Amino acid sequence: MPRVLLVEDDDSAAKAVEKSLGMEKGFILKRLPRPERLISNLLDFKPDLILLDIGLADFDGRQILKEIRRNASVNDIPVIFLTGLSGEKDKALGLDLGADDYLTKPFGALELLARIRAVLRRGRFRAPKTPQTGLFMNLESREAFLDAKPLKLRPREFEILALLAANPGKTLERFFIIERTSPYESNASPRSLDAHIKNIRKKLGKKAFTLETIPKVGYRLNFDALQ
Ligand code: CA
Repeated sequence: MPRVLLVEDDDSAAKAVEKSLGMEKGFILKRLPRPERLISNLLDFKPDLILLDIGLADFDGRQILKEIRRNASVNDIPVIFLTGLSGEKDKALGLDLGADDYLTKPFGALELLARIRAVLRRGRFRAPKTPQTGLFMNLESREAFLDAKPLKLRPREFEILALLAANPGKTLERFFIIERTSPYESNASPRSLDAHIKNIRKKLGKKAFTLETIPKVGYRLNFDALQ
């Protein structure tokens, strides 16, 4: 039975989807009114399809889709956007980001079911061939995952790895990293940075080699080393 995760803050819209899917009796539906801890939910529930509202209170569904597509452990789950925006430009944007389809509210039950069936038939979304690092960092919730497993980082370690991951393949100088990741820590030294790097490497396990030391300069996260 296909499992569908509905991310929708609006109760009446959620009810309409529940009613539509209930007509088939062939779906397992779970609803998340807010997208916090979405990645954890995806890993637990393992949906075959996500129905994602673009206009969530305090959240932008497009941003959430980007996060899903960036995370190697969940980026192949098809996503149908549910939206009140009907402009062509918005539609193009949704599909560019990797949405599999797009449904403008209000929609009928039969239309929703037809779209869901079509997307499920087409199979899972194929992620573009970029180096699969298995690393995913959510800067808002400050959660990190490596190969779908939670990566437990201390706050400073999280900052350092996020900075390196935002600049893949670039060597960042020690003092630049220190300055950017420890604004409140006046006694931060290159030595404490080296210690944090050592801890991060330990936590990266088999992928520790992607975090390279550039002697006398700094550090670099080199995802190309994975290929
Ligand atoms: Ca909404």
